[in-house]
Amino acid sequence: MPASHDPADAAFGSARISPQRREIVSAVEALTGAFTVEELARTTHARDASIGTATVYRAVAALEASRWLERVGERDGSALFARCQAGAHHHHHVVCERCGRVEVTQCPVEIAAAENPDGFRITRHEVTLYGLCPSCSASGTGVS
Ligand SMILES: [Zn+2]
Ligand SMILES: [Zn+2]
Ligand SMILES: [Zn+2]
Repeated sequence: MPASHDPADAAFGSARISPQRREIVSAVEALTGAFTVEELARTTHARDASIGTATVYRAVAALEASRWLERVGERDGSALFARCQAGAHHHHHVVCERCGRVEVTQCPVEIAAAENPDGFRITRHEVTLYGLCPSCSASGTGVS
C-alpha cells in the first residue's frame, strides 16, 4: 500500500485512525455549521497543539473522499465543509452567511438543464445558496 493511504476509522472509511485524526473528527462533531479548513485547524490546534494545519487539510480531504464530510460552498475564497445527512442523492445546500448553518435544498438546475440548448449534455454543476437562517434573520442586523 502506498504511504498516502492514511489509516482511518469509520469516518475515514477504514478501521484504523490516528489520535490526531480522532481529535479532528471530534472537533468537527462539536461544530454546528459549515467551516473552512482554516477554522477547523484553529479549533483542533487549540485542543491539541501538535495538530498542524497540513494534517487538518489532509484529514479533511480524506473525510471528504469517504463522504463523511461534504463540501457545501465557499466563504472568502475558501471551501466550506460540513457534515451533511442528505446522503448520496443529488441535492444542494443553503448556507447561513452569519452562523454557517447548513440546510439541504432540492436541485434548481435539473429542470432547466433538461431544456438545454443545442443538445448540449450537462455533466455536472455546482449551486450553493447563501442567506440567513431563521434565527440569524430574526436577530436582526443583517450580514456583516
Ligand atoms: Zn449535502
Ligand atoms: Zn444563521
Ligand atoms: Zn443540482
